[in-house]
Amino acid sequence: MNHDDLRYWSKRAADWTHEYHTGLRRRPVRARTVPGAVAARLPAAAPETPEPPEAIFADFEAIVPNAMTHWQHPRFFAYFPANAAPASIWAEQLANAMAANCLIWQASPAATEIEQVTTGWLRRAVGLPSGFVGTIHDSATTCTLSAVITMRDRATGWASTQDGLTGQRLRIYASAQTHSSVDKAVRLAGIGQANLVKVDTDTEYRMDPAALDAAIRADLAAGHVPAGVVLCAGGTSIGAFDPIGDCVEVAKAHGLYTHVDAAWAGSAMICPEFRKLWAGIEGADSIVMNPHKWLGAQFDCSVQFLADPEPQIRSLGLRPDYLRSDAEDEIVNFNEWTVPLGRRFRALKLWFVLRAYGLAALRKRIRNHVAWVEKLAEVFRATPGFDIVTEPRLALFTFRHAPRGGDADAATERLLARINDDGRIYLTQTRHEGRPVIRVAAGTFDCTEDDVMSVHAVAVELAGGL
Ligand SMILES: *Cc1c(COP(=O)(O)O)cnc(C)c1O
Repeated sequence: MNHDDLRYWSKRAADWTHEYHTGLRRRPVRARTVPGAVAARLPAAAPETPEPPEAIFADFEAIVPNAMTHWQHPRFFAYFPANAAPASIWAEQLANAMAANCLIWQASPAATEIEQVTTGWLRRAVGLPSGFVGTIHDSATTCTLSAVITMRDRATGWASTQDGLTGQRLRIYASAQTHSSVDKAVRLAGIGQANLVKVDTDTEYRMDPAALDAAIRADLAAGHVPAGVVLCAGGTSIGAFDPIGDCVEVAKAHGLYTHVDAAWAGSAMICPEFRKLWAGIEGADSIVMNPHKWLGAQFDCSVQFLADPEPQIRSLGLRPDYLRSDAEDEIVNFNEWTVPLGRRFRALKLWFVLRAYGLAALRKRIRNHVAWVEKLAEVFRATPGFDIVTEPRLALFTFRHAPRGGDADAATERLLARINDDGRIYLTQTRHEGRPVIRVAAGTFDCTEDDVMSVHAVAVELAGGL
């Protein structure tokens, strides 16, 4: 296959893209396949001689789409949305065509500068003060890892960058509602899971600032080294929000670095009325939000805002001779802010999405999702046999099926299995206070009020007879 062939086949791919997206509603949301079925259809070894594009494309159509879970399906309510707006798909096609490695400014000046400008647009759009500067990582996991590594090195006066950890017990604080990426970060940073202190929460699953203060004091008394606090603004399980301002104040009083995980909920902050949920955010040192979740700039596009990039650059930024370039005083080399050296041109899709839809329409979408989910929760609340377990936080709530005289945990698990085998909608589970619950998280770019309300109709229909 050469570039002349590619010209034809990329047009075919564009046509396929249109058919796929316009036909999504006819597909079951979750993949209908069993483990190993796809692998069994592929030969054991790569071919020695070229295969024609027709054969490759025919196999793609025959094997792949039916064995995929359709994340852009308007009735996908599982996990969190991972939207790919049409303008984002378009931008990715162009970024793919240039296939640049945007490791330093000189390697792709437009990529660096569009990243600076679009993360600045986003900072303004979510209402963060002008001191924050943004950079784009692949995932929130990597943003949080970068922040935790910065906490580690800052707490040792950067001795750890040379000597590693030499016997100190560094301590990181988070609530049990924070994402497992925090657990992963403390492991990867060499701090160790045992030194991630899970701070008590209140009745609304919000970190208790007094408990945070007490935990830090207890660690100081024990001779440990408190290093940083990871706060959650929209936890993955039930959407919990820590009281950011109060917790940041406690952290600052002890000289600790703070990172806020707003991977999902950060996008909603383009709507001013939701910003009370992260009140005090301007005091944070580091914030992550994923435009690839709710804003439509497809995976991967995770933005980290830093009040001061210097500490993170001191931890992550190496500049060997072979990466030196001219005019270093006037430019930013974003690889020094992030973990990998190589970087994709992720800012292009953010630029296209923000321009193609505009903030007003993006706000309208998010407001609709939140309003429809509140309405859906009300309908469930009024339905015998269903309990709302956690109230809507933005566009996420959890429920259980509790038939009269039945075992609610077993009924909830059976109902979820039935719903997902049925295929019209897709929901996922979590455990809350030790018991299984069903999550509903709306936010797919093309979903409508009918799509959201269909969750109730399908659940009630399939609960019959359980
Ligand atoms: C989705 C999510 C993550 C993980 O995001 P990745 O970008 O997939 O690493 C972390 N924290 C929260 C709150 C999330 O919603």
